Amino acid sequence: MHVVVTGGGGFLGSHLCDALLRRGDSVLCVDDFSTADPQNTAHLSGHPCFTFVRADVTAAFDVLGPLDAVAHLASPASPPDYHRRPLETLAVGSRGTENALRLAVRHRARFVLASTSEVYGDPVVHPQREDYWGNVNPVGPRSVYDEAKRFAEALSMAYRRSLDANVGILRIFNTYGPRMRPYDGRVVSTFIRQALDGEPLTIYGDGSQTRSFCYVDDLVRGIVAMIDSDLPGPLNLGNPCERTVRELAELVLETTGSASGLEFRPLPVDDPVRRRPVITRAQHQLDWFPHVTMEEGLRNTMEWFRSRRSLSSAGRTA
Ligand code: NAD
Ligand code: UDP
Repeated sequence: MHVVVTGGGGFLGSHLCDALLRRGDSVLCVDDFSTADPQNTAHLSGHPCFTFVRADVTAAFDVLGPLDAVAHLASPASPPDYHRRPLETLAVGSRGTENALRLAVRHRARFVLASTSEVYGDPVVHPQREDYWGNVNPVGPRSVYDEAKRFAEALSMAYRRSLDANVGILRIFNTYGPRMRPYDGRVVSTFIRQALDGEPLTIYGDGSQTRSFCYVDDLVRGIVAMIDSDLPGPLNLGNPCERTVRELAELVLETTGSASGLEFRPLPVDDPVRRRPVITRAQHQLDWFPHVTMEEGLRNTMEWFRSRRSLSSAGRTA
């Protein structure tokens, strides 16, 4: 297949590019580097089936030659990133999504939207099934991300209904793994970095809020299966194994063997209290289920963070 991956320089996008190339696809990655780490795709430069185009997808774009699928992942994803870039987040969720949809329609290609569990906001129904409509504060600080993704879903469904576009929506729950940026502000990357640096782990609120964390390899397998299907979704993709933030902190300390303490900070505005996906739709329709345990996933992630640290300290002493 010939696949365009928007946001392919980021955490999930770069793993998706790897997975598609591994099975023999050609990949065109479009990324503006706003939250990407160039190291994520550095190993692909020179790959005969990989092309990187540095571009902002809020400007219209086209590709020459055949195109079978567009995976639209471009968007800031970590709360500090979208708080820092509120207008850009709304623009990429709206104009950026429309440009990616137009590209898919022009080429009669499959379109997969990387939506998010944040469309459920601070959910009053637990766990979350796809038929739950959510509880989003439309004017709160998180709304730039949540509403951009809700609009992106509405736009994708309108393209499906009006233009018969082959659109599929994935609602991705918290995912972690190698290539997360150590200072992206997300909880797993922050805790691992703090534990390895011997700094206190910063728990927001009392740490009783929950999330359900999926390892990146599992998640990417689900995205590839969605690209290969004609399913409209929305489908939840995530690991239903739910943990409190405090439990996560303790698990990170155990995994890293760190002696760091815990430091409690105020809970951010509108921070969802709990989150866990119901994944029976993805199980039945995509034959997808996550396999990697949190212990194994954290170990892999920690090892990757350690190897990056030793590389950069080797660089400093060289
Ligand atoms: P990321 O920040 O690592 O990657 C996003 C990528 O999009 C970056 O490389 C960034 O440079 C690029 N980008 C942003 N705006 C762009 C624009 N206007 N034009 C071109 N490129 C642009 O984040 P991620 O965790 O890899 O998330 C990828 C996608 O998955 C996002 O759409 C996010 O909303 C969604 N998602 C991720 C998670 C998660 O836990 N990682 C959960 C739910 C949804
Ligand atoms: N969190 C925390 N300490 C941190 C970063 C995040 O306690 O240093 C909390 C955050 O308040 C939220 C949870 O961890 O309750 C998950 O945060 P993240 O930003 O990773 O994802 P999201 O809130 O988007 O689900």
